[in-house]
Amino acid sequence: MIERTLSIIKPDAVKNGSVGGILARLEKAGFKILAIRMVSMSKKQAEGFYAVHSARPFFGSLTDFMSSGPCVPLVLEGENAIAEYRKIMGATDPAQADAGTLRADFATDKEKNAVHGSDSPENAAIEIAYFFTGCELAG
Ligand code: GDP
Repeated sequence: MIERTLSIIKPDAVKNGSVGGILARLEKAGFKILAIRMVSMSKKQAEGFYAVHSARPFFGSLTDFMSSGPCVPLVLEGENAIAEYRKIMGATDPAQADAGTLRADFATDKEKNAVHGSDSPENAAIEIAYFFTGCELAG
């Protein structure tokens, strides 16, 4: 099934100059980049994006990090894009991510882990709409 997923190149990866390297990997993996932008989220916007994690002990630190500088949200389209992208993204903690995954190669630590990826079709739709309008997704 052709799906869409939301990826974010997080502020750590933007800061250390990994945007181009990550985009090249995504294209090589066969994803269509349907939409892309750079955005500096406010603390409130980062809290809104991660609202599902608001009860987690790392919520304050995570939303500080996500609002610490520009990030690059993008919409990827492809066959089973949600699961396929999570495979190449790798485990949350880069120390546990398989070799060759984005997090193994670009992440700093469990929080500053270079990339985000939607975990279900429902969340993909919500997350895509958080950053992009229908007009920007015309493909
Ligand atoms: P993901 O689906 O692999 O991104 O992981 P989660 O949905 O569980 O967590 C969302 C984000 O919160 C992760 O990508 C990390 O940036 C951050 N995070 C997850 N677990 C921890 C943790 O134990 N400590 C801290 N500081 N951040 C975490």
